[in-house]
Amino acid sequence: MKMLGRLKDIFEAFLDIMYPIKCCCCGEITRNGSIICADCFKNLEYINQDKRCKACGREKSSCHCGMYVWRFCELVSVFRYEGYAKRIMLRFKINGKRRSADFFAKEMALCIQSEYKDYSFDEICYVPISRTSYNKRGFNQSKLIAEKLSKIFDIRLNSSLKIKHKRLPQHKSKSREERLINSQYKYVCNSTLTGKTILLIDDISTTGATLDDCTRALLFAGADKVCCATAMITSYDKDKKKIKKEK
Ligand SMILES: [Zn+2]
Ligand SMILES: [Zn+2]
Repeated sequence: MKMLGRLKDIFEAFLDIMYPIKCCCCGEITRNGSIICADCFKNLEYINQDKRCKACGREKSSCHCGMYVWRFCELVSVFRYEGYAKRIMLRFKINGKRRSADFFAKEMALCIQSEYKDYSFDEICYVPISRTSYNKRGFNQSKLIAEKLSKIFDIRLNSSLKIKHKRLPQHKSKSREERLINSQYKYVCNSTLTGKTILLIDDISTTGATLDDCTRALLFAGADKVCCATAMITSYDKDKKKIKKEK
């Protein structure tokens, strides 16, 4: 057994020499095999969870969600979408550095563990992306993170949340009126989630509207409660500009 462990150590050392681990933020080789170098790590833009607005996930000083009523119970987010943390996300999404999914999943797991102590999740869902984005990127970043969280927590991953396609059948057990109301929205979930508590994962929360729409689909499918977790959240000012631009 000791011999086997030794062989494994040698093999891992060999892998480190052949394929040294590079920092998911600056791209420099990290010394201790960690996924992020010490310099980048100490500069990360963490959200202070003690000051979190439970509704929108932002620190209370920058929360403006008083007028909204979200369908999800809570939102927890690890980083502000700026500086070093933003650079990791961009390298992940644009340059396809999939190892960053490990980094985000680990950080999110710590946050979920401490902030969602009072919930017991039955399944993990994630926000789907459009076919165009998928073809461009080759992966859904939220799904990669959700898969890792599913392994960390040993909670079943449910992939039934989809962007609605006109031909996609709606939940059959619902009345015509309910189906009609549902048809105004972008996301649909065809699995039956009766009574379940769902952990919904996304990479970045901007206005919160996507998470809210996905939550609506999950509740429509019978879920009892939905709590959201994202790797990052944008500042409110940026949201305002974005909403203006969309208009
Ligand atoms: Zn670095
Ligand atoms: Zn808020």
